[in-house]
Amino acid sequence: ENEETLCQGCGVNIQTTDKTQPGFVPASALKNDIIICQRCFRLKHYNEVHDVPYTDADFLEMIGRISQTKGLILKIVDVFDFNGSFIKSLHRLTGNNPILLVANKVDLLPKSTNINKLKHWMKKSAADLGLVVQDVYLVSANSGRGFDEVKKAIEAYRKGQDVYVVGATNVGKSTFINRLIDETSGTKDAITTSYFPGTTLGFIEIPLDDKTALYDTPGVINRGQITHYLSNEDIKQITPNKEIKPRVYQLQPGQTLYIGGLARFDFVKGEKQSFVCYFANSIEIHRTKLENAESLYEKHLGGLLTPPNEASLDQFPALQEKSFKISGNKTDIVFPGLGWITLSGESVTISASSPYEVPVSKRDALI
Ligand code: GDP
Repeated sequence: ENEETLCQGCGVNIQTTDKTQPGFVPASALKNDIIICQRCFRLKHYNEVHDVPYTDADFLEMIGRISQTKGLILKIVDVFDFNGSFIKSLHRLTGNNPILLVANKVDLLPKSTNINKLKHWMKKSAADLGLVVQDVYLVSANSGRGFDEVKKAIEAYRKGQDVYVVGATNVGKSTFINRLIDETSGTKDAITTSYFPGTTLGFIEIPLDDKTALYDTPGVINRGQITHYLSNEDIKQITPNKEIKPRVYQLQPGQTLYIGGLARFDFVKGEKQSFVCYFANSIEIHRTKLENAESLYEKHLGGLLTPPNEASLDQFPALQEKSFKISGNKTDIVFPGLGWITLSGESVTISASSPYEVPVSKRDALI
């Protein structure tokens, strides 16, 4: 009999022929009791991140089956990268199943963040992207914040049925599931240590009770995620690992800020004023004159203006510029996966540049 073997970490089909493809293990590892693919092995033991070339389309094919079954869908996004970590075509495949939006990594936001406003923005943004969600929960899979509420909601909405957890890579889906299972059943590290036979289609099945299970689906890589274009080192540097400290810049019109070499903010027109930057504390922000900004970038990208570092320069896309006229309300200019800059609401014209396919957006200020 030729049964498929699935990775106990991520659920991908195990194969022994191609090192560069998902699911690779050396043939000698097949005799182990627990088989995990090379990627999961590295994640577990060295905390390395490796891209798995799942595309949106592969994922959708896999997940299409959810629309034919009944169950609750938990969609996990990264609070810091709402647009980048949002799987856009999900709504076509979820059938009539209820969806809860879980925004993870809330521990990174400054304490002064208006949580209700953030929830509201997320619910509305999801709807704008075609996905109607029952409710939004802000959690930290690291600290456990928000878990009591989300656990209650899961029980209430699943009505005795299965739970499907979906999300883009790196949103913290595994950490979330591990904590959820630990808090509900006392099982530690449910995902990487689980013995539960995987189902078809790359889902990992974790029993919730005699009849129902939680399914972990493979993480999708979105081209709108800035991490898609960066090396592991760069990703480390741009990912906040503790609460973000706001940095305030007094700017004159005609001045530019570079966020490392990943994004650019030009103050084009308006009165001198302050701009508040919310990015990982480890990203350097450089101030320069607008008229010199272009040549600075050409000369110093990958050097002074880093990340991207030298090694990931050739996979890093050109910056694309968008112009905004703001007046009246305090507004955030959002750089997906990086952070945001808050404008006071005085009349200004600014332009903001971000890597191609990782577009900048604006929203009412959260702080
Ligand atoms: P997955 O790819 O979606 O399964 O994500 P992981 O669970 O592997 O987590 C990805 C990264 O995000 C890891 O570096 C985690 O430590 C980090 N992470 C996960 N949850 C949280 C959280 O609640 N807060 C913070 N600050 N980081 C988190």
